[in-house]
Amino acid sequence: MIDPVAALRDIKSRIELAARGAGRDPSAVTLVAVSKTYGDDALLPVLAAGQRIFGENRVQEAKTKWPLLKTRFDGVELHLLGPLQSNKTKEAVELFDAIHSVDRMKIAEALAAEMTKHGRRLKLFVQVNTGEEPQKAGIAPRETAAFVACCRDQLKLEIAGLMCIPPVDEEPALHFALLAKLARENGLDGLSMGMSHDFETAIALGATHVRVGSAIFGARG
Ligand SMILES: *Cc1c(COP(=O)(O)O)cnc(C)c1O
Repeated sequence: MIDPVAALRDIKSRIELAARGAGRDPSAVTLVAVSKTYGDDALLPVLAAGQRIFGENRVQEAKTKWPLLKTRFDGVELHLLGPLQSNKTKEAVELFDAIHSVDRMKIAEALAAEMTKHGRRLKLFVQVNTGEEPQKAGIAPRETAAFVACCRDQLKLEIAGLMCIPPVDEEPALHFALLAKLARENGLDGLSMGMSHDFETAIALGATHVRVGSAIFGARG
C-alpha cells in the first residue's frame, strides 16, 4: 500500500526539480491531486498534510465526497477534469473552482449562463484532442483558435488555458509541445498537461497545472 502523504511529498519535490531543471519557477506549476475513486481514508491524511487542490472526474462523485470535507478544511479548491454534461452545469458551477474539460459551445454557453447567475468565475481550460482520437473529448487542434475566440468574443468568457490527455501509445512530449504552441498562438498562459507518468516531461514543456492521481494515491481498483 502506498503512503499518500509520503508520495505527495515525493511528487512535490519531483515537480520542483523538474521546474528548476527547465529554468522555471516551481511556484508556476500547480499540483492538482486527482482524487477520483478515492475516499476519505486516502483524502484525510493528504488534506491534513496541507494539500488543497484536488481533481475529480465526475460531478456526481465529487458531490458525495467534497461538501463535507470542505466544511472541515479551509481553502479547498476543486477542479473538474472529466467530461461535463450540460444538465450538470449548475451543480458543477456550485461545487468546482476550475473546469479543465470545456470542449464544445453548448457547455461553454451553459457555463457562462450559470456563472453569471451564481456570481462565480471558474477557471476554464479548453480541452484539445491533440491526438485527434475519435473516442476522446476535446476540440480538434485546427479548431482551437476559432473556439477560443467564440468563448471570448461571443460569451465574454475568460479562458485560463488549454488542457490535453495524450494518446496512451504515443510520445506525450509531442502532444505537450503542440498544446503549448496552440496556447502561445492564442495568447493563453495556462497549460493543464501531465499526469502520473509524464508530468516531468509536461513541466519541461511549460505545464502550469499537472494532474497527478495514482502516483499519490496508488493504483485505482
Ligand atoms: C485520472 C486522470 C488524471 C490522473 O491520472 P493518473 O495517471 O492517475 O495520474 C489526470 N487527468 C485526467 C483527465 C484524468 O481523468
